[in-house]
Amino acid sequence: MGKIKLCPKCGSKRIKILVPQTGIWTCMKCGYQGGVLIEDSKMERQINDAKKMDKLSKKLMKGRL
Ligand SMILES: [Zn+2]
Repeated sequence: MGKIKLCPKCGSKRIKILVPQTGIWTCMKCGYQGGVLIEDSKMERQINDAKKMDKLSKKLMKGRL
């Protein structure tokens, strides 16, 4: 199993190396640029879980009002 590189901002796999010499990557989805990338497929699930939790908490907040 190879490591999957992901955007740390949106979790997208659609990333492209911008400057190979410096290791700067760019995300095709959200436009993130930087040298930090997530190299684990588990992380993508964690990002998705965080998004779900965020939606759920917003729902709960709405329900109270
Ligand atoms: Zn992104």
